[in-house]
Amino acid sequence: MNAPAPSPLTDLSRLCIHTATTKPWAIETAIERYAAAGVAGITVWRDTLEGRRPAKIGEQIRDHGLEAVSLCRGGFFPSLTAKGRQEAIDDNRRAIEQAAGIGAPLIVLVCGAALGQSLADSRQQIVDGIAAVLPDAEAAGIRLAIEPLHPMYADDRSAINTLAQAHTACDQLNHPLVGIAADVYHIWWDDDLPAQIAKAGELDRLFAFHICDWLTPTSHLLTDRGLMGEGCIDIPAIRAMVEATGFTGYNEVEIFSTRWWESDQDEFLSRIKDAYLQHS
Ligand code: ZN
Repeated sequence: MNAPAPSPLTDLSRLCIHTATTKPWAIETAIERYAAAGVAGITVWRDTLEGRRPAKIGEQIRDHGLEAVSLCRGGFFPSLTAKGRQEAIDDNRRAIEQAAGIGAPLIVLVCGAALGQSLADSRQQIVDGIAAVLPDAEAAGIRLAIEPLHPMYADDRSAINTLAQAHTACDQLNHPLVGIAADVYHIWWDDDLPAQIAKAGELDRLFAFHICDWLTPTSHLLTDRGLMGEGCIDIPAIRAMVEATGFTGYNEVEIFSTRWWESDQDEFLSRIKDAYLQHS
């Protein structure tokens, strides 16, 4: 298949930032600073809602002219015990209530994996867990996006590590509210990327697109992601594949980085905007 050509981003109208990207900021600060910077969307991480009423945060988001793009994160369904699996289901039900409260139409699922059982068993528990919360998602009108995680996280963060595996889970669930979040950090290395992304588009299950960069060397498995342009991921090429499916959603900047968190966050936000326009 011919690779679609990337087109440059010329404005911030499709820029969304994850609150985890500017982790030192309280949600109220993030809302203010993103809006002032001309960012269009915000993806809310649940830790920022601690001690707040989601509906009030949703109001603040809208009052600042931002769109609540998604809630991060649900998932972590697998467990060696029935009690653990039930607790995960209960927690995902709370996530659905929170998403509805802030007015976010989508929850991103970091699906989980349990050490001590096979990845196949964990995958089955993921499908069962999502099926258990689907009635709640239906009632609230919230979509659920399975985010395949890089295989380095297969031990205890996600047994779903490729877009192909995410498709298999979606096929099993076969529900219009269940789709995929494509994050360049996790999938950039996959030689089947063009076909898998095209398939997600054809099946109307490409729900979200996350961007950041892969650093070499990577000093920490979780918290050493790069700003777009700092690493080796051809983000414009992957974005072109995503847009070729008809995807018109946000380009969501999701950077977990101790290095950037230790820097001045206003300066970082300004760097994000530049990197978004130049390297995404
Ligand atoms: Zn992501």
